[in-house]
Parts: sequence; structure tokens; C-alpha cells
Amino acid sequence: MSTPKFRSIAQRLVRHTVWLALLSVAVVLAVQTWALWHQHRNRLAEVVELVGSTHVPLLGVALWDIEPRAVQLQVKAIASWPEIGYVRLRASTGQVFEGGDLRLADTPPTQTLSISAPQGGLPVGTLELVGDPQYLRDTVVHNALQVLLGYGLFTAVVCVLIAVLLRRELHRPLQGMAQFAAQLTPDRLMAPLEIARVPRQGHRDEIDVLAEGFGKLQAGLRGHIANLDSLVAERTRQLEELVQEIHRLSMTDALTGVYNRRSIDERLPSEVERAQRYGRPLAVLFVDLDHFKQINDTHGHPVGDVVLRHMAQRVRETLRGGVDWMARYGGEEFLVVLPETTLEAAVATAERLRECIAAESVEAAGGLVLRVTSSFGVTVCRPGEDSERLLSRVDVLLYEAKLDGRNRVAFSA
Ligand code: GH3
Ligand code: MG
Ligand code: MG
Repeated sequence: MSTPKFRSIAQRLVRHTVWLALLSVAVVLAVQTWALWHQHRNRLAEVVELVGSTHVPLLGVALWDIEPRAVQLQVKAIASWPEIGYVRLRASTGQVFEGGDLRLADTPPTQTLSISAPQGGLPVGTLELVGDPQYLRDTVVHNALQVLLGYGLFTAVVCVLIAVLLRRELHRPLQGMAQFAAQLTPDRLMAPLEIARVPRQGHRDEIDVLAEGFGKLQAGLRGHIANLDSLVAERTRQLEELVQEIHRLSMTDALTGVYNRRSIDERLPSEVERAQRYGRPLAVLFVDLDHFKQINDTHGHPVGDVVLRHMAQRVRETLRGGVDWMARYGGEEFLVVLPETTLEAAVATAERLRECIAAESVEAAGGLVLRVTSSFGVTVCRPGEDSERLLSRVDVLLYEAKLDGRNRVAFSA
């Protein structure tokens, strides 16, 4: 659909005002012409009456006395009335006297007066009077010119004044606002609306109210956007926290709270890689509870869980925070990773842990007190070795500790 053509309100208003003014002039002109025509008819009747009362008796005398010069003078005098265009006197003797505009001789007379001899004697002639159409025309044209000039000038001045006012007070500010609204892109949303206007003294108009409305709308939008920004920031923070929590949960063993097998897969290769790259020692411990199956079988799984949790807690407490870490490899086997640790130091740690676990009693529900021992496999990462190979080696060492009778530490470099 094509955009409709733009037409300024101010221009339309001025055009309508001009048309209205022209229509008023035409109406005034028509009414005045009609009134003039009426006036002229009345005036003609008055003149005819005057001619009848003044000139006709004199004409009666002049005709009776047979004084053609006097008759002609009277006819001329009658024709000199501006309302009368042509006069013709037909005497009973057959003589004809004419006065005025002879071109109107063929026009049917407006009025015919009969002329009698003095003292109410016999008719001596008839007087035919023809109204002057030129006089009527001149009067009407003169009047029309006056009306046109007067009203026309007044209308022109008013229209120019309206046009100037409309342009200044309506067209320009509205155009400024329309341009402003058309350029309101998201990045320019807060740009202030500036419209050049003559300052008003102590009052406001529709344009001011509209401009204020724009300001309020922008302020509202600004507040809304700021609110949205903080809301988005808050939601993003909550989401990030949730993602971190989910990540932590996905890396944590639900029963013991230490890292799970997935963490080993994720962390151990980078730990090995770092140690290899910088030529630093990295020790790993594999811990497995001895005869744990018996505890489950004898006291039930929940008791086994308590023992597992206790053991994990104990091991974790003895590690260096932020450096060493442990993970549940599966079942009751745990991997302990000790960065920057030599084999001797790792063996010493394993021994300490083993003694600690063996010396402690675990209290379970119903006053049950249990004691457990654990076996350890301990080694350090060899140059060029990957995490899988390291794990399988330490697993073999753990197996050796079990074979050696359990509750001991088996190690190799
Ligand atoms: P060994 O000294 O040779 O290690 O003997 P063991 O009985 O510990 O042998 P094994 O490793 O085969 O048995 C592990 C048992 O651990 C088997 C399983 O029932 C138990 N277990 C594995 N995961 C859980 C768990 O989450 N909770 C409990 N309560 N027991 C578990
Ligand atoms: Mg076991
Ligand atoms: Mg096991």
C-alpha cells in the first residue's frame, strides 16, 4: 500500500479560509445587488411620480399653447433624471418629442403617462418613460467594486495573518515534532525534543502540552528501560548462579559431597598436562575401604553410606585446601590428587590417612560403632604419561596393597 500524499494542516486551513472568505464575498455581493435593484426600482417609481406631478402639468400647458420649444425643454429636463434613460412624448397632433439615449427608443416603456390640457381638459398627448439600464449597471458595478475592494482587502489581510500564525505556531512546531518522532530509533530514544518556538508569556497551548507529553513518555521509557536493565542484570546473575550450581552439582558426588567421576575426567588430564609442561611433581592416591561389602551385608546399605560419608570427610579434612582435591572414583574407591607433591610426601600422607581411618570409630544409627581400615595405592606421574595410564598404574598398586593383606600403602614411582 503506497503512503498517502502529505498535506500540511496549516495549508489546508488557509485554503479553506480563503474559500470561505470568497464565498462570503459572493453572498454579500449577491445580497447587496438584489437590494440595489430593489432600491433602484423604488427610486424609478418615485421619479415617475415626480415627473407626473411636476413635468406633466407643465407639458399639458405647453402642448395646449402649442409651444414646441417649451415641450422639448421639458422632455430634456425629464430625460436628465439619472434614473431615466429615454423619454418620448407623442402629442395628439402627431408630433413626437424625444430626449435621452435614443438607442433605447425601441425598448418597451417602463411607464406611460397621459398628458391632459390645463384645467382637466382633453388628452393632448402621452409621455413614455424608459428606465436607464446603464445607470443601474453602473450603480451595481460601483457597489460590487466597493464590496470586492473592502472585503477582499480585509480577507487578504486576515488570510495572510492566519497563514503567518499557523505557520509559526502550528506548522513549524508540528513539523519539528513529526521529524523528531520519525527519527526516534532505539539509540536516539532519549534525545530531547527541541522545537524552536516564540516564548509564551504565562500560558501554554496544545503544542506545549504535546511536547510535555513527549517528555513524559521518554522519561517513562527511560525508567522502564533502566528497570528492564536492572531486571535483566538481576536475572542474568541468578541464571549464572544457577548454572554454577548446576555445574557444581554435576561435578559433585551426591552421597559424600566430594568430586565425582566426571570431575576426574575433566580435571585430571589438565592437572597431568600442567605437571608435564612445567616438570612439576604430581602424586595420586587410590583409596579403597577394606571388606566394605561386609559392612553393607551385615548392617545394611544405610550404615555403609554413613561409613562412606565419614571416610570421605576425614580424607578431605587432611588435604591442603585449594591445592589438593579428591573424587569418588566409584563404589567405595576414592582418588586423591596432590599437585606439587613428591612420592615420599604422598606416601607419608597416605600413611597418615590410613592410620587415621583405622584409628577412628564411626558412629552409625542405633548406637552402632564401627571401625574400618583402608588400602592405598600411591604413585607419581611419569614424564610423558597421560591421566589414563596414571590411573591404571595406581589402580594396580591398590590391588597390590589388597593382595598384601589390606590396611596398607603400596607405592611406586
Ligand atoms: P575389598 O577389601 O577387597 O575391597 O573388599 P570389599 O568388600 O570392599 O570389595 P568390593 O570393592 O568388591 O565391594 C564394594 C562394595 O561397596 C560393594 C557395594 O555393595 C558397596 N558399595 C558400592 N557403592 C556403595 C554405596 O554408595 N553405598 C553403600 N552403602 N555401599 C556401596
Ligand atoms: Mg573395598
Ligand atoms: Mg572397591
